[in-house]
Amino acid sequence: MIVNAKMGANSGVTTGGKLFLETVLKNVKKATELANIPTDIYEFLKLPKRVIVVSIPIRDRDGNVTNYIGYRVQHNNALGPYKGGIRYYPTVDLDEITALAMLMTYKCAALSLPFGGAKGGVACNPKSLSQEEIEKITRRYTYMISDLIGPYIDIPAPDIYTDARVMAWIMDTYSQLKGRQVPEVVTGKPVYLGGCEGREEATGFGVCITTREACRVCGIPLKGARIAIQGFGNVGTHTALHLANLGAKIVAVSDSKGSIYNKEGFNVEKLVAHKKNTGTVLGFPSAIQISEKELLQLDVDVLIPAAIEGVITKEVAEKIQAKIITEGANGPTTSEGSAVLQERGIFVVPDILANAGGVTASYFEWIQNLQREHWPRDKVLKMLEEKMVKAFNDVVETTRRMELGMRDAVMVLSVSRVALAVQTLGIWP
Ligand code: NAD
Repeated sequence: MIVNAKMGANSGVTTGGKLFLETVLKNVKKATELANIPTDIYEFLKLPKRVIVVSIPIRDRDGNVTNYIGYRVQHNNALGPYKGGIRYYPTVDLDEITALAMLMTYKCAALSLPFGGAKGGVACNPKSLSQEEIEKITRRYTYMISDLIGPYIDIPAPDIYTDARVMAWIMDTYSQLKGRQVPEVVTGKPVYLGGCEGREEATGFGVCITTREACRVCGIPLKGARIAIQGFGNVGTHTALHLANLGAKIVAVSDSKGSIYNKEGFNVEKLVAHKKNTGTVLGFPSAIQISEKELLQLDVDVLIPAAIEGVITKEVAEKIQAKIITEGANGPTTSEGSAVLQERGIFVVPDILANAGGVTASYFEWIQNLQREHWPRDKVLKMLEEKMVKAFNDVVETTRRMELGMRDAVMVLSVSRVALAVQTLGIWP
């Protein structure tokens, strides 16, 4: 593993994401065994190709210096340039970012995108920072990793608490360092700065499409289906809006401040406006407040975790009443939780399939930037829907052919694609 020479003395490596990384590695190992992939390929894939840890010293509004830690983990690029989001979150650590980078490798492979997998993060709390401080962190972080990213090397994108504006700062910092505009270095930019129409809603749209397909397979009519969503950020809101458009009832949602419930279903557009105005879903008229635990265990047709990882533990999985779980978030289910869900026959649309709409639209954005083109929203969503449905059907076909659950099937498909590329390229030197 190569650590950037510019890294600060305190690498700040902690183990908060250890369980998450163990879960991902267990799933990969199981997939290699199920697909009869040689163990030396697992040995190759179990570590990222490169880990970058940087210090980000920032002078805050009171004149004090705070030194943040930033990560960029590049897992594998056998199928194309590294691709993956950047998150700003207080508990970010190297294990978590490594696990997420690995998921990106397999997510891109699941959708047959010509990308490898990477992920980045800065351990900070954007909610307590001013826009100026977030801009300083973003530009310093970009500067520190600028030699190791690029349109054909590694292309970042948004993730938790990073948005189009943060992507614009990344593009600008990189472009200033190169002396020319390089919009294709990052995706998820504002549309007027080379962003893709529909990119902002793409992950939620994909979660909606895969939920629709899961309902079809399970024989549950989507019209009137009761849905609970944990997390009401980018993924949660757009999932809710698209599902409500198809006639589903969004009966419960949550954010970091709490959870709300209305058995008749929310007016989602009004709920989005309420969240925008007040900063939380709490206090929405005609809703009752419930605990997060209650939300996860509600009697609903579909549960959509769309916040953070590790929330569906063994104990939670034992009490879930939903018939379908669509994983909008990355890694929301622990491996013990996953085993319980499979045993109980709950249909799971796994994260690397369910939330791949974002990276797929990012791929469309990258193509448009490279060709200096701009596609309309209808074209983007139509192409996205086709890719998501094809990937979903490939996974369902694998569950039937190999008698596997959805998670094992998607991992078998995607790990096999990556393994074939690695085997063909060989382990140079
Ligand atoms: P976001 O920052 O827009 O929203 C996160 C939401 O989760 C917010 O509503 C926040 O209040 C809520 N939240 C945070 N901590 C919580 C907690 N402990 N309990 C309940 N809610 C909590 O982030 P996002 O982009 O919507 O990402 C959500 C998840 O989806 C993450 O796991 C991310 O990796 C994944 N994801 C995002 C994208 C994308 O395109 N944005 C793509 C693929 C996967």
